[in-house]
Amino acid sequence: MSAKDIEQSFVTLKQTVPLLVKHKISAVPTNYALWYTYVSNDLPELNEQLDAAVENQSQLSELKAKDLYRHYISDKEEVNVWDLRQSIEGMMIELSQSLKDTKSETQEYKNLMDSCIDDLSKVEKEGWTVEEVLGLVRNMVKESQVIRQSTISFNGALASAEKEIARLKSQLEASQQEALYDALTGLCNRRYFDSELTSKLKLEKCSLALIDIDHFKQINDKYGHQMGDLVLKAVAKKIQSCCRDNAQAFRYGGEEFAVIMPGLDQSRARHMADVVRRTIEKITVKDRRTGQSLGDITVSAGVAQIETNEHSAAVIERADKLLYEAKRLGRNRVMPMS
Ligand code: GH3
Ligand code: MG
Ligand code: MG
Repeated sequence: MSAKDIEQSFVTLKQTVPLLVKHKISAVPTNYALWYTYVSNDLPELNEQLDAAVENQSQLSELKAKDLYRHYISDKEEVNVWDLRQSIEGMMIELSQSLKDTKSETQEYKNLMDSCIDDLSKVEKEGWTVEEVLGLVRNMVKESQVIRQSTISFNGALASAEKEIARLKSQLEASQQEALYDALTGLCNRRYFDSELTSKLKLEKCSLALIDIDHFKQINDKYGHQMGDLVLKAVAKKIQSCCRDNAQAFRYGGEEFAVIMPGLDQSRARHMADVVRRTIEKITVKDRRTGQSLGDITVSAGVAQIETNEHSAAVIERADKLLYEAKRLGRNRVMPMS
């Protein structure tokens, strides 16, 4: 028997097992021999009969199978013992490989393989009959059905676990994005600001202040990022403490804050922003390591009142322009001037 023939019979055997599983055909030698011959396509007439039997009854009756076996196979010795032995060895290698991959029931399977290899050596030494070899195959098929089942459930469990993890991950990301609060300062975040400002556009009177810490980069550079964070927290706390009458404070960006002031026109809002500015001016932050005071912490602000039918981008732009003016004029001030 050539290597090519061995390979072919292995391929045939590998295709036979799934057919038995698919058609829920019991793994008795007769059935195995029938379907092995079916896959090898040696007897087209048998194939026609099997196809018809499966189609009519969805499952092959035992009686019909025995009948077909007797008629097409038993007398003719179509299934060669050597052929089968090669196939079984190949299948065992294949199955043990796939099992290693699933990492389940490894020991149980190894024991089965060991006993099958023992049995296989008997095939040659003791000259087993076709029936005996098929008995061995029957065991293999039975076991591989069990293994196939456990592999499916193992893979299924793995797949659903992976799905669950992916679901949780995207849920977490979504909730982080949707979170309303800034983690460092505890103020409401930019996302919340956007929706809050939009909801205030229709108010009869409402103003917006944009507040930016002066020379904040220098604080970071001189005292380190951690100290910078401390300053951010202290400033946020002061801004929050100045918010009365429904005014809402937000962390707008890195060292920029926003205050939405419902019910206040620009002049009164400007006044409130200046209270914020003076409160922050009084902050003293000490570097604990050196005991050295950080020096003045100041902010600049631009204040704009929402106009009728205005988009939020427009009022933000006006407040931002005024903030820029405050910076240009020397910082630590609120614009407009009155
Ligand atoms: P100006 O007076 O013109 O506003 O100058 P500035 O230095 O405050 O402004 P600039 O925009 O040049 O620098 C802002 C710095 O704020 C740069 C950035 O590293 C820092 N920053 C932004 N977010 C954080 C933060 O969460 N923590 C710390 N420590 N620094 C931050
Ligand atoms: Mg700044
Ligand atoms: Mg800035």
